[in-house]
Amino acid sequence: AVDAAALTAWVREFARLAHEQRDALTRLDAAIGDADHGANLDRGLTAVVAALEAQPADDPAAVLKTVATTLIKTVGGASGPLYGTFFLRAAGALDGDDGRALATAVRAGYDGVVARGKAERGDKTMLDALGPACDALDEAVAAGESLDDALRAAAAAAAAGRDATEPLVARKGRASYLGERSAGHVDPGAASATLLVEAAATALA
Ligand code: ADP
Ligand code: MG
Ligand code: MG
Repeated sequence: AVDAAALTAWVREFARLAHEQRDALTRLDAAIGDADHGANLDRGLTAVVAALEAQPADDPAAVLKTVATTLIKTVGGASGPLYGTFFLRAAGALDGDDGRALATAVRAGYDGVVARGKAERGDKTMLDALGPACDALDEAVAAGESLDDALRAAAAAAAAGRDATEPLVARKGRASYLGERSAGHVDPGAASATLLVEAAATALA
């Protein structure tokens, strides 16, 4: 079930992956940004893991809220408030502990990132991984697939969306300052958002 323990495991796995991929994320951001995305996320998620350990919650929405507030506090840069908004909106929309409830919550999180960042799919941002993942999750849950299969489909969709950012010209965030020169590189936020979805497939299924 998608309960507080499972959500905590999800976020811990995201933190583990972000730490492991820290240099790779930073290299992506060095190419089209300011070379801090790996450090930003690693710092934020390390603080998140500490906060969850300091105040373990048995309410699933409270877990997501702690994640959100900690990220907003500790991540300087565009990605902190955006990931924070994702978790805050997901917390507000979580109503149940099955795949359908998870799909509804992450969709609300995605919509929150859209509202906050005013980007669209195709702008070469984290939305290009999160959006396809939400669609795949919705579709799989509606088709009655197991949570396991649904999350695996979402992770594959996120990775495909991440890879598809490579040829795009960035229209939002720091990378947009480069104009046409932003093409030819994978977006760092799309790469980290893929880790978020891959972590869900590992920890929640
Ligand atoms: P900063 O650009 O402030 O240094 P990070 O490097 O931590 O912040 O994060 C950069 C990532 O944030 C980008 O790769 C992109 O995916 C994401 N991003 C930036 N602006 C937006 C936006 N308006 N909407 C959605 N995602 C965005
Ligand atoms: Mg950066
Ligand atoms: Mg920065």
